[in-house]
Amino acid sequence: MDPLVVIVSGPGGVGKGTIVSALVHRDERLWLSRSWTTRAQREGEADDAYVFTSRDDFEAHINRDGFLEWTDFLGNLYGTPLPEPPPGRDVVLEIELQGAKQVRERNPDALLIFVLPPSREEQQVRLTGRGDPPNKVLERLRKAEEEEPEGRELADHVVVNDDLERTIAEMAGIIDRERLSRSSTR
Ligand code: 5GP
Repeated sequence: MDPLVVIVSGPGGVGKGTIVSALVHRDERLWLSRSWTTRAQREGEADDAYVFTSRDDFEAHINRDGFLEWTDFLGNLYGTPLPEPPPGRDVVLEIELQGAKQVRERNPDALLIFVLPPSREEQQVRLTGRGDPPNKVLERLRKAEEEEPEGRELADHVVVNDDLERTIAEMAGIIDRERLSRSSTR
């Protein structure tokens, strides 16, 4: 059976990274894809948060058809390498909306969960808290506002991250139900 591909998308500062690590930690069938980025590593950010790479290496990988999807997000490149999960594992991608659209085009069966912040104020607090300069925070907030309608439209499920534990449980439930419905239709 093909692996289930779960796309977790949504604006920056919504808590996608924290949610996804918890999901993968609790469910050993889930396998998290590690993205490549040309963005500089943030202070305190784990070395394995991304494959941090130069623009030249990223572009060479595009030319080798090495990405499932990639995009330019506010001046930096981000991409998902072609996933190679161990047998029997389902794939989780934590990516922004343009990438989510590309994955959906290549794999219409992918499950898309769009995560929203409880409010813009809360999102701003989270974005500021991770050390991005104020102009970057504003840029990301503007982008979030712009992309929200399209994200809602495209998503199979929209989840508001008002409480981390509740949100993780809701998303684990969505993934379990999806597996059940796929196994019963085969
Ligand atoms: P950040 O710079 O905050 O780590 O990430 C910026 C945005 O890029 C986030 O919305 C994050 O989910 C998204 N992102 C991370 N990896 C990828 C990827 O491989 N592809 C795409 N399209 N977006 C990604």
